[in-house]
Amino acid sequence: MNLTEIFNQENKKIELKLAFPFEEFMDETIKNEADVELVLSNIGKGKAVISGKVSLDFVLSCDRCLKPVETTVVLDFSREIFAPEMLDDEDMKEDQHFIDEYELDVESLLKEELQLAWPSKILCDEECKGICKKCGQNLNDGTCECDDFVPDIRFANLMDIFNSVKE
Ligand SMILES: [Zn+2]
Ligand SMILES: [Zn+2]
Repeated sequence: MNLTEIFNQENKKIELKLAFPFEEFMDETIKNEADVELVLSNIGKGKAVISGKVSLDFVLSCDRCLKPVETTVVLDFSREIFAPEMLDDEDMKEDQHFIDEYELDVESLLKEELQLAWPSKILCDEECKGICKKCGQNLNDGTCECDDFVPDIRFANLMDIFNSVKE
């Protein structure tokens, strides 16, 4: 998408709606057909704001018990962008790597925003007990033989002997 007008025409505004360009992200399928609403607004010579909104539905796995969890990831971003002649340092260029000269790469912008919005933790429930590390039993469905530490009676007796020797 060419940004010449948006950078050069005072108060120029472009609103557009486009189908979300990916079918999956992080190997997870996007379940809904989502449209991204993008708004570009000129805010001065060589400067603009780009904002976007979209809700994406995924079915992710609980980090503790692996149960599928329906998760909606919402993108709602707004960032300033600059014409190439406004960028004098490398950091600024790096920050808007999705713009090459006057060309906006919408896909790479959306990819970055999705990366930022991606949930760091997926839980089926805050209280999820997870699965037993020994036998794989889902501890939300019930306990297993190995999840409680039962003190061994022989070991307890041995401790008594040690303690009595010390005294
Ligand atoms: Zn869980
Ligand atoms: Zn177990």
